[in-house]
Amino acid sequence: MSLLEIKNVVKRFGDYTAVNNVSLNVEAGEFFTLLGPSGCGKTTLLRMLAGFEQPDEGQILLDGQDMSRVPPEKRPVHTVFQSYALFPHMTVRDNIAFPLKMAGWDKARIGSQVEELLEDVRLTAFGDRFPHELSGGQRQRVAIARALVDRPRLLLLDEPLSALDAKLREEMQIELINLQKEVGITFVYVTHDQGEALALSHRIAVMSQGQVEQLDIPEKIYGFPKNRFVADFIGQCNVLEGTVTGVSGDIMTVEIKGCGEVRCQSTPGAREGQQGWLALRPEKVRLDKELTALPEEAHFKGKVHDCLYLGDVTIYVVEVAEGVMVETMLPNSIPGVAKFFDDNDVVEIAWRYDAGSFLTE
Ligand code: ATP
Repeated sequence: MSLLEIKNVVKRFGDYTAVNNVSLNVEAGEFFTLLGPSGCGKTTLLRMLAGFEQPDEGQILLDGQDMSRVPPEKRPVHTVFQSYALFPHMTVRDNIAFPLKMAGWDKARIGSQVEELLEDVRLTAFGDRFPHELSGGQRQRVAIARALVDRPRLLLLDEPLSALDAKLREEMQIELINLQKEVGITFVYVTHDQGEALALSHRIAVMSQGQVEQLDIPEKIYGFPKNRFVADFIGQCNVLEGTVTGVSGDIMTVEIKGCGEVRCQSTPGAREGQQGWLALRPEKVRLDKELTALPEEAHFKGKVHDCLYLGDVTIYVVEVAEGVMVETMLPNSIPGVAKFFDDNDVVEIAWRYDAGSFLTE
């Protein structure tokens, strides 16, 4: 039995359906992320797990128990919000101890539990400070410690890092991964930031318009998006229009519009004549002045159409046929060389047949 089972959950606001028949399971000990653009329904789903909203249809089971009639404060579930919601007049220790005091724990037990949590979030030296004496990242760590102090079955995190600047956010991501490993409590995390979701999660549910588009491990979500929405939403992706010209077991051939035939991994259910798109990540495409293509590679000549210097890498958009662009990416690994190619340079590109996937929707 999964720790959390979401079964055919629907939530409407008036005649607008915010969550549309979502079913998914979260396993004990998992770091699970709901990822999607603004308005896709991820927060509404999280709020139903917390008990702040009731589903109109479907069931939410925790440890096999239906949560529908259980009020938020009676659920073994806590939520960490973007705004830390700490008590400003209480020290860090008192903030963390608060839920245990409310639950009537004795002083000695509260003391040892609070010290353990302070250690988990590496704030032992800050226990006597007040929230205004802490950085944003430290405040969020206190909020997380307070939410974990009575060992909930489930910790819900609603965009907890979005108020922090980029560098601190990255530090906090590492902290969160380690903390979750340390405490072993199941995390359900909501974010619209695909990089954050890929970095943190064991599994990700990508949502759009109230539905789950794809649920998988980060490597599959990124490497093998199931449809155009996921391909476009997660990172950079070439989406080349094409038609299936043949299927032979695990491999099929696709005629890329205006360009020529390439091989790719078979898409389940795809048949000859099927139209769709070859999804190909820029970093999977080799680029050079001249290339010796390997037997397993597609190979095209082209012309550099645009260069985009991003510091660590440069993006080169290569036109391989009239109006057909393939985005490629090279790391700027040679000191002093910011760009290997310029606009209008004649180049060659190649990619392995298993580098991309053919999308039918
Ligand atoms: P964001 O990242 O912007 O918070 P989200 O993916 O979390 O977006 P939700 O907050 O779940 O999206 O909202 C989904 C849809 O439901 C939105 O169109 C929103 O306007 C609508 N919605 C959410 N809460 C309510 C409410 N209480 N009353 C009416 N509509 C609501």
